[in-house]
Amino acid sequence: MRPLLTHDPSCFIADAMLGRLARWLRILGYDTAYEKVITDESLIERTIQENRWLLTRDRRLTECKVIRSRCTLIAHDDLEGQLRQLHQDLKVDLGMNHRRSYRCADCNVVLLSIPYDEAAPLVPPVVARQHQEFLQCAHCRRVFWQGSHWEDLNARLAAAKQQGTGQATLR
Ligand SMILES: [Zn+2]
Repeated sequence: MRPLLTHDPSCFIADAMLGRLARWLRILGYDTAYEKVITDESLIERTIQENRWLLTRDRRLTECKVIRSRCTLIAHDDLEGQLRQLHQDLKVDLGMNHRRSYRCADCNVVLLSIPYDEAAPLVPPVVARQHQEFLQCAHCRRVFWQGSHWEDLNARLAAAKQQGTGQATLR
């Protein structure tokens, strides 16, 4: 039987081993805290203080009493397996066309839509000709749009959902 979830697992914190997974969760629109270097104490403290759900590769951490009810031991080394586990265990939605706000993979900041006139000078001319809607990270200022890679991302995520296909390798 699955343990009862007492905290909402849609706001995450990933341990230092899970940098790639953290980036993908942000792309999927999930608020995911991540620091390359962080002590166990700080991980636990942030989990509790920021009301996050801890994702970790460290079994010892999952046995810690104060966070036992709000963490998941990630069982896989590969990103596909990790995403599949989150989909199965925590109902993480592996679709790109969701209603959550998109987040910058680098900064975990919600992307805001910006007017076409502001975005156009910041993107390649061919992109400005082909797209009307743009999003920007208020922190690093990168501009995003739903380009041809969008369908590719969707296909990769769909493959990750299906156990044992091993077709697409997520980068
Ligand atoms: Zn950013």
